[in-house]
Amino acid sequence: MRCPNCGHENPEGTLFCEECDWRIDQAVRMKLGVNSVYLAYISVALGAVAAIAAFAGIGVAGVGLGAVGMFLGGYCMTAVRISGIKGKVKTILMAIAAVAIILSIFGFIYGITVL
Ligand SMILES: [Zn+2]
Repeated sequence: MRCPNCGHENPEGTLFCEECDWRIDQAVRMKLGVNSVYLAYISVALGAVAAIAAFAGIGVAGVGLGAVGMFLGGYCMTAVRISGIKGKVKTILMAIAAVAIILSIFGFIYGITVL
């Protein structure tokens, strides 16, 4: 694992760089945080499309997109938790993920009824 601070190559799984004491997993956490923002938007978009598709009578799309949306929404919540995001951003991301999951569940269930 290469240290993002000094470039020193550390053994896999090292938490603090042997050379400069930089906390290596910080970069991983930051990446997770950024990814969770994208995940939140993607999952809420999927959820919305799933709900709309189900309403439009395209059950397959509702069920399929709803399933993916639920998974991504749940993954997003996990990513937010692990990344250590705090405060308002965390609340907003969690809210978006929750909306995504609700929309996805709705699209999924409604999709089944119109299959
Ligand atoms: Zn280092």
